[in-house]
Amino acid sequence: MFANLVQWTAAESLWQGQSLVLDPHHLAQWLAGIGIRVPMGFGVSLMPMRSPYQAAFEARSVALATGHSVVAGFGPGPVSFQSALLGRPYARPLQASREYATIVRALVSGEDAMVEGKYFSVAARLLQRPAPQVEVGLGVLRPKMAALAGEVADRAMKTTRDWSHVCDTFHGPGWVAVGDSAAFIDPLFSSGVWLGTSAAWLAARAIGAALEDAEQEQLALERFDTLYRQMFKDILAYVPFFMDPTRLREEYEERALQIQKMVTQNSRVGFISMISGVSAIADVVDFDPMNVGTSRTSCRTGTSRRPPRAARPETDTAEDSARGVCWNA
Ligand SMILES: Cc1cc2nc3c(=O)[nH]c(=O)nc-3n(C[C@H](O)[C@H](O)[C@H](O)COP(=O)(O)OP(=O)(O)OC[C@H]3O[C@@H](n4cnc5c(N)ncnc54)[C@H](O)[C@@H]3O)c2cc1C
Repeated sequence: MFANLVQWTAAESLWQGQSLVLDPHHLAQWLAGIGIRVPMGFGVSLMPMRSPYQAAFEARSVALATGHSVVAGFGPGPVSFQSALLGRPYARPLQASREYATIVRALVSGEDAMVEGKYFSVAARLLQRPAPQVEVGLGVLRPKMAALAGEVADRAMKTTRDWSHVCDTFHGPGWVAVGDSAAFIDPLFSSGVWLGTSAAWLAARAIGAALEDAEQEQLALERFDTLYRQMFKDILAYVPFFMDPTRLREEYEERALQIQKMVTQNSRVGFISMISGVSAIADVVDFDPMNVGTSRTSCRTGTSRRPPRAARPETDTAEDSARGVCWNA
């Protein structure tokens, strides 16, 4: 669909990130094979996955198959990813990126690549074929990589590690903030609507309590703030763990279970409960800004009511979360 949009609209090119399921270059070739040939961008492909020769070869293959220009972006990737695929991380990622981009750029330009580097050594050229232009880019997070891109690549591609943000406070005189304006997590887990609507519910309860008893306004809003912030942190703490490609599926599930502090033998239930927001439903539905309490049964423990969320220790990091607490124990 997106490739067709490029054909039908003023969009310039189709961009794909590095996938660990379907290789984006293969997808581009498949699209070309079924007749959808558009300019392509790859940003950014992770260097540990392919030699610079293979990278140049793939990028030019896409240019040949589509008949359009290609922008091929590269980056060293996370340290854990480098270790997992190479045995150890690049001690000098800037140097590795310099060598890699230099080789790829020479090859896709039809030149001889003659590089003897610390990380990559090549004395080769691609077989000559007239092909549309292939530009080489480097993924840029910091100024040094930007400077390197200006030196050895055609483009600097601004990348970011984490889109997440959170406000210092979710309330003030005459206002409360919920949804993305208050707290946002990488949409990897599709948690935004759940968090936003849950926070709206919590805020409404707090505002309702404050309207009934103006003296309690500050307390009610602080309790709303504390619970909302904890729900946000629970998921946020999990994102870096989940994004670590060296982990096994069982580890993802086990960590989710620990964060959720659920009483269940089935770690998959913990994972699904966290991602769907089910595990926090009791906290949200039972939210009592005046701390009066109800007899509602907790979904998370399945047996009895837990201490109010605000009274529990906060999980600041994935490591803290990993320690876990069983509130029913
Ligand atoms: C790529 C992507 C995929 C996502 N996928 C999912 C998913 O699958 N499931 C999920 O649950 N969440 C997902 N999310 C997150 C989800 O979209 C958000 O968390 C959610 O939409 C936030 O709702 P909101 O009301 O806080 O903000 P928004 O939906 O951004 O609404 C804010 C509104 O305010 C308007 N606005 C801004 N400034 C002003 C102004 N000055 N005056 C008037 N109006 C203004 C904006 O135009 C907008 O309409 C995804 C997010 C992204 C970026």
